[in-house]
Amino acid sequence: MVSRVIPVDTFDLVIFGGTGDLARRKILPALFRRYCSGQMPEDSRVIGAARSEMDDQGFRDFTREALAEFGKSQADNAEAVEGFLRHLHYVPVDARGEGGWSDLKDLLRDDEGIVRAFYFSVGPSLFADLASHVHSRGLSNRDTRIVVEKPFGHDLESARALNEELAQYFHEDQIYRIDHYLGKETVQNLMAVRFGNMLFEPLWNAQYVDHIQITVAETVGVGGRGSYYDKSGAMRDMVQNHLMQLLCLIAMEPPARFEADAVRDEKLKVIRALDPVDPDQIVRGQYTSDGEMPSYREDAENPTSKTESFIALKCYVSNWRWANTPFYLRTGKRLASRASEIAVVFKETPHSIFGIDSGRHRNVLSIRLQPNEGMTLGVTIKEPGPGGMRLVDVPLDMSFAEALGPEAEEVTDAYERLIMDVIRGNQTLFMRGDEVEAAWSWTDPLIEGWERRGDSPKPYDAGGAGPDDAAFLINRDGRRWRGIKA
Ligand code: NAP
Repeated sequence: MVSRVIPVDTFDLVIFGGTGDLARRKILPALFRRYCSGQMPEDSRVIGAARSEMDDQGFRDFTREALAEFGKSQADNAEAVEGFLRHLHYVPVDARGEGGWSDLKDLLRDDEGIVRAFYFSVGPSLFADLASHVHSRGLSNRDTRIVVEKPFGHDLESARALNEELAQYFHEDQIYRIDHYLGKETVQNLMAVRFGNMLFEPLWNAQYVDHIQITVAETVGVGGRGSYYDKSGAMRDMVQNHLMQLLCLIAMEPPARFEADAVRDEKLKVIRALDPVDPDQIVRGQYTSDGEMPSYREDAENPTSKTESFIALKCYVSNWRWANTPFYLRTGKRLASRASEIAVVFKETPHSIFGIDSGRHRNVLSIRLQPNEGMTLGVTIKEPGPGGMRLVDVPLDMSFAEALGPEAEEVTDAYERLIMDVIRGNQTLFMRGDEVEAAWSWTDPLIEGWERRGDSPKPYDAGGAGPDDAAFLINRDGRRWRGIKA
């Protein structure tokens, strides 16, 4: 299967923070791979901008090294690498200072038809400064787009302030708030499966679905970004954005069209329909040392930290479709494996014609986000062989890489898709300001609740499935978490 590459318009893309970690690991390799696929027009330009003194050649050398490390198989093609590097430029700019802005303005082309985009790949405290400078230095017009990295605010108040700040200079249809989970192939496939097939949607409701589990498990700890993470925690870092977005896509009503505002309106309704959760009913955990690797508190360099590296919670979407259907959300660091999955667990058949020995069987639609993106539908069949009617659950497995060929693997990076969507002007996979605020409105009282009563997270062993209380949270409802396995 060959993926279809639809060329985008010629662009000037400025990456503020072009020398940073995200640019090195994700943004520049993503652009390189789009270049290799033929999607990046020949006269497009990528302009790195940061405080470091560097010229075009320095930025090209920096990018060459980044591609060697993160560019995947295409980076072996020296001709392609050099071809891509010719599109790169660099301007030293200080987001808070005066220097560099006029050089940047001179470099940008004013020709009609050239898309101009600014990627804010810098710390969040600089987002407002950049927006103000881009505007006041005459670098933007009505078609200019800005891409804003996460985190978008620290709570409702700061998110609202940032939205207001950006709105002074840009219209909502110019602001692209990134949640890279939305750019994942499987996440979009979730919408294709739900709204492109007759099979699932009639069953996608409280009548047929027993419960839904969303798990984002990581093996890594917070080492390296411990001091940042310690001010944030799993609720802010993962639940408020990534898990909430996944929940929205699972729970939303079919939008009338696959268009940005139609999709985002439906997602917003889900967030607004979420019941408040009692902060005491949420399981918070913090990983301990396994003897070799440091504990959370060591990683965070804060021996008394009360920040959680694990969350498990149960919530309800109070509407006709989902009344009384639990959504179990779980995410954590230093767990047994790196595995992100959404599992839709259907109810048992209302009556078994096979007798009492046939056991309990439930269909499960499992949507894997990583690793090995794909879907599995668990179906119940007869156990092969003679000796009566015994039932067994088997997976109908679909790995995208296998089903669609190597090309499928080549297009899976979320940043590639999202950056090209920015150039195309398609906001469907980006969060709207009101969505972000609604998500904070739901999480803020939970965090405030813990802070008010000085809640301490439960310690949990590195390499496991989180604190025992997480298992209890779901077991007391007569259900079990799906295993965290690679
Ligand atoms: P980083 O490695 O610390 O890089 C920050 C970049 O900003 C550098 O290029 C730095 O270059 C530049 N910068 C700092 N102060 C500046 C100023 N006053 N004016 C102009 N440029 C300035 O951070 P990062 O990890 O790339 O993260 C960037 C953004 O992406 C953050 O918002 C982060 O939360 C988000 N993010 C990162 C990741 C990731 O995996 N890294 C994942 C998700 C989201 P100079 O020092 O030369 O100025």
